Amino acid sequence: MAIRFFNSLTETKEVFEPAEPDRVRIYSCGPTVYNYNHLGNFRAYVFVDLLRRFLRLRGFGLDHSVNITDVEDKIIENAHRAGLSIEEFTAPYIEAFLEDLRYLKLEEVEHRPRATRSIPAMIELMGRLHQNGHAYQSQGNVYFRLASDPGYGRLSHIEPAALRQAADGRFEADEYSKEDVRDFALWKAPATDYEQRWESPWGPGRPGWHLECSAMIRQIYGAAGVDIHTGGVDLMFPHHENEIAQSCCAYPDDRFVGVWLHNEHLLVEGKKMSKSLGNYFMLRDFMEPERARAIVDQGRAPALILDLLASDRMAGALRYLLIGTHYRQKLNFTFDGLQGAANAIERLQGTIDRLLRIATETAPLEGQGPAPSFVKGAIEEFTAALDDDLNISKALAAVFELNRTLNQALDRNDLGADGVHSGIEAFRMVNQILDVFSFELREVNSDPEHDAIDALVTERNQARANRDFARADEIRNLLRQKGVTLEDTATETLWRRD
Ligand SMILES: [Zn+2]
Repeated sequence: MAIRFFNSLTETKEVFEPAEPDRVRIYSCGPTVYNYNHLGNFRAYVFVDLLRRFLRLRGFGLDHSVNITDVEDKIIENAHRAGLSIEEFTAPYIEAFLEDLRYLKLEEVEHRPRATRSIPAMIELMGRLHQNGHAYQSQGNVYFRLASDPGYGRLSHIEPAALRQAADGRFEADEYSKEDVRDFALWKAPATDYEQRWESPWGPGRPGWHLECSAMIRQIYGAAGVDIHTGGVDLMFPHHENEIAQSCCAYPDDRFVGVWLHNEHLLVEGKKMSKSLGNYFMLRDFMEPERARAIVDQGRAPALILDLLASDRMAGALRYLLIGTHYRQKLNFTFDGLQGAANAIERLQGTIDRLLRIATETAPLEGQGPAPSFVKGAIEEFTAALDDDLNISKALAAVFELNRTLNQALDRNDLGADGVHSGIEAFRMVNQILDVFSFELREVNSDPEHDAIDALVTERNQARANRDFARADEIRNLLRQKGVTLEDTATETLWRRD
């Protein structure tokens, strides 16, 4: 089966063929490091992780770059206010970003170029544009001459003429030096006396954001360009449009990008994330107990998130929730969805545990037979769904169908050793993508929330002893929502899951 991706440039699903048969070159626009990354950013990063893992599952090697934008207006301003150099100011945010990625089990990529370390490549690209008449200098700035690129608008499908209107009234005061309001800055002369600057043939300054990505792609991948360029839909215009303009005008004979993949936004409880709505979350708000406690106390999140953290299920649930919606659909992050994700993992993990126990208890069979056809079928469906523009919802449906059939066979006691082993192998394969399961045999009666539930039961008994019956009832209800039933005996309180 061929792999197909929806190319934003042509707006069609195309058969995917990398320039080299067994290695895929990918470039993804990365973070600007003046703060911690919010939940919406991770939608893009998790999508890219899915893409990587899928391509590897399909036998490709990977050569993937995610840039770090470590020079731009907010960084310059905030670093100055903090009395730090750009490097000092950005270092903790870069470290935090990498830590966040590891928390969600996002794979390390092959290159992480940084803007401040790629200036020579940017100057070289600018030099070519200047030479070809695609760039001009004005008052210490260098601009891309948009009118010199007749293909401009090819990705966002915006007519250059319409752009003039869109740009009117939006250009900044320091950009009156432009020939045309649509032109964008490649190089910016220092606007303050304190900002860090780099030397260039057009005078001291710093690079524009768009230039960065074009230059890094050229520097890392040369004339071959990349097979896949990813980013959020919000980057399509003007950022990616400008990347294409720069790269294609500087190197008209070379390939820049094979296919453009754009992921949709993340919503929180059906609304766009915004600070004024109180639904704006950093990943750290869910990662760190003190931050989680704070958003619960502010009434912005339910106590559920504390339970998930306490029971070590938060990272998996977040990862599952972020990966589980097709990348071209808006992802609605809800706390019910988060609980649902944790439950889904638990349900599948329960089957894995069941299979593992049988596999350990029974001696391995000599000359194991073929996998039952329903297992083979599920694996084929899973891969075929991902082949079709990473249709994760359909792929997950195949996993749940497999789960159901395996459990039915186990209940009837007729799965057989081949079924048990191939079932485990199928889940291992699925986990190469999802990475949320454990294949270590857990205790038979282990409950992932055991400690958290014990703590609640103790708190309830304390509340009763203090005659705080309102709190005691509240806890009983909370536990009931988790499917936990309490039984008070003369000496202790027992609990069980339904
Ligand atoms: Zn970019």
